[in-house]
Amino acid sequence: MCQPLPGILDDPSRRGYGSPVLIRGGRVVDVDGDRSADLRVGADGRVAELAPSIPASPGEEVVDAGGRLVVPGGVDAHTHLQLPVGRVRSSDDFASGTAAAAVGGTTTVVDYVTAYRGEDPLAALATWQRWAEPAAVDVGLHMTFTEAVPEATVAACVERGVTSFKLYMAYPETLQVDDGVILDVMRSAGRHGGLVTLHAENGSAIETLRRRALAEGRTGVVEHSRTRPAALEGEAVARAGVLAELAGTPVYIVHVSSAPALAAVRAARERGVQMLAETCPQYLHLSADELAGPEGEDFVCTPPLRDPWHQEELWQGLADGSVHTVATDHCPFTSADRRSGVRARESGWRDFTEIPGGLPGIETRMALVWEGVSAGRIGVADWVRLCSEAPARTFGLWPEKGSLRPGADADVVVWDPAAVQSLDATALHMRTDHSPYAGHRALGWPRLVLSRGRVVARDGNFVGEAGWGRYRPRRPRPGARG
Ligand SMILES: [Zn+2]
Repeated sequence: MCQPLPGILDDPSRRGYGSPVLIRGGRVVDVDGDRSADLRVGADGRVAELAPSIPASPGEEVVDAGGRLVVPGGVDAHTHLQLPVGRVRSSDDFASGTAAAAVGGTTTVVDYVTAYRGEDPLAALATWQRWAEPAAVDVGLHMTFTEAVPEATVAACVERGVTSFKLYMAYPETLQVDDGVILDVMRSAGRHGGLVTLHAENGSAIETLRRRALAEGRTGVVEHSRTRPAALEGEAVARAGVLAELAGTPVYIVHVSSAPALAAVRAARERGVQMLAETCPQYLHLSADELAGPEGEDFVCTPPLRDPWHQEELWQGLADGSVHTVATDHCPFTSADRRSGVRARESGWRDFTEIPGGLPGIETRMALVWEGVSAGRIGVADWVRLCSEAPARTFGLWPEKGSLRPGADADVVVWDPAAVQSLDATALHMRTDHSPYAGHRALGWPRLVLSRGRVVARDGNFVGEAGWGRYRPRRPRPGARG
């Protein structure tokens, strides 16, 4: 969909790590401002120089970024690559998912390890690290606990560069922990510079609503959203705020999807709780109406898509700073797996509780948030902050990631605001056969994407390689007592 840009690194032999690149004449936007500048990438894969005008050195590849933006590579702080879900698995592995991420302008992903009940979290971490080896861009890992853990486990994770811990307030059968465990992990994490991230929905009340729906024969796809009302998301966010206040720690709420949840975030922040909120493009662009359509299964995610008016509220939250980051919760499935259900029945799912939940999004995040810039809802600097700088800072990757300061990793995106990109599944690189944004043409797409100085995507094509990505240990938060 992107027309090739003449003169940009056409010589394949020059694409590798180790060849200095000078990106000239672009509009550079990062934490230090919005200005016209040249950026030199050093042979060590880091930003070597950023200045109003840099003369080219002999033998240096020069990229003309005139009319385009030069921004730090995106950081997607919430992905689920090759995650087992019942008898199916999310359809992107670390190689395919990170290649797709690169094409869309994301050069770091932070994926969620899950330690299921009875499982050793450090063993689960080792499994995920092995899975992540074929990644095409850099990868960090969060840890998910599904039961109480000793403080020593939290400390051991932090030592391995895993400084954030997810807990679920929903899914009582498999993932949910009670408020006491949340408080306990918040305290342990706080002592070691870790951050608790919460899936905030009231799981027990939702379970009752789901059971009642099934008992009454309401089994269709739309019941997925009806049995997970926004009020129960708002309640859980409010409770999370109280627990964080008691623990005296910050807390990060993943995938805020609704106005009540956002109101609870604001209320917590107003009384001084350091609550950070993430939302995802699907909650900014899609609504529950999709679940009633013929391809309803393809839009099942949790929290569910909401009525359209919530989108406006979330954009407001992005503009006023009460929503802190945009991540994807990327968790794609094939159409076949969605229809056979998590129990992999040949006859298909029997009721809405068997449909695997999660949407593809790792490739389309930067473009879908950029649409807010095009529409005048947020500014260019907000886009960079929400998609790159804030997640890098929050999760201990700053300033190597999320910044273009000399010395930072040369994870650089040359963004073309005039590029038109189809969001049909066939035009994208995520390993799934359907797209929630089919039929939509995005305005704004990367021309060139560098990961640690190496070109990994050009004009909508992946030109990197599996295994280029590195596991990035993340730093604990400053001020930890441990
Ligand atoms: Zn998730």
